[in-house]
Amino acid sequence: MLLVEDEAAVRLGLRLALEKAGHQVLEAESARAAWPLLKAAEVVVLDWRLPDEPGVSLLDRMREKGLETPVLMLTARGEPKDKVEGLRRGADDYLTKPFLMEELLARLEALLRRARPRRVIQRGPLVLDLDRLEAHLEGRTIPLTRREFELLAFLARRPGRVYTREELLEAVWGEYLGTPRTVDQHILQLREKLGEDPRSPRFLETVRGVGYRFREEG
Ligand code: CA
Repeated sequence: MLLVEDEAAVRLGLRLALEKAGHQVLEAESARAAWPLLKAAEVVVLDWRLPDEPGVSLLDRMREKGLETPVLMLTARGEPKDKVEGLRRGADDYLTKPFLMEELLARLEALLRRARPRRVIQRGPLVLDLDRLEAHLEGRTIPLTRREFELLAFLARRPGRVYTREELLEAVWGEYLGTPRTVDQHILQLREKLGEDPRSPRFLETVRGVGYRFREEG
């Protein structure tokens, strides 16, 4: 993320807290310094009062250029008009100084979640939401256990590729906690939940003497 703030002490405090929370932080002390860094940022923390240009006018220029990076504006206390104006001009959120670091982090993480495209595997009518660990078939949510979901997602990542039970155990269970029967059991449960016809499954195929694969489309 990019931190645009002219006060060095505030910037340092923010940077340390953000890095501690696992974020990579770029810094700029002015609008001019921020401009070339904007494209690389996933989210921008933008101070209202900068030495060379108001933060909100930098925001205007960003939006004019079609840069839709989420922006959280920082405003000083007692400038209620700033907040409204900032939001109206395209800020995604704002905080009034002084603020709690926890609140800033929570708001930034919410902005990032909204900005990131959801990770999804789609195979015909089957949609696997990898962030929510949810499976949807023809628009219906299929209740799966965590292992069932992981097994299905693992196979669905590479349709057509055959995996042995041992490979699936290692990939999905992580270590030899189960036996090859564990895999068979989970495939059986998955097929039942997905309403598979055992003689011609739509998704989960048995490859005799080898293991299982996710069926290739077409
Ligand atoms: Ca400032």
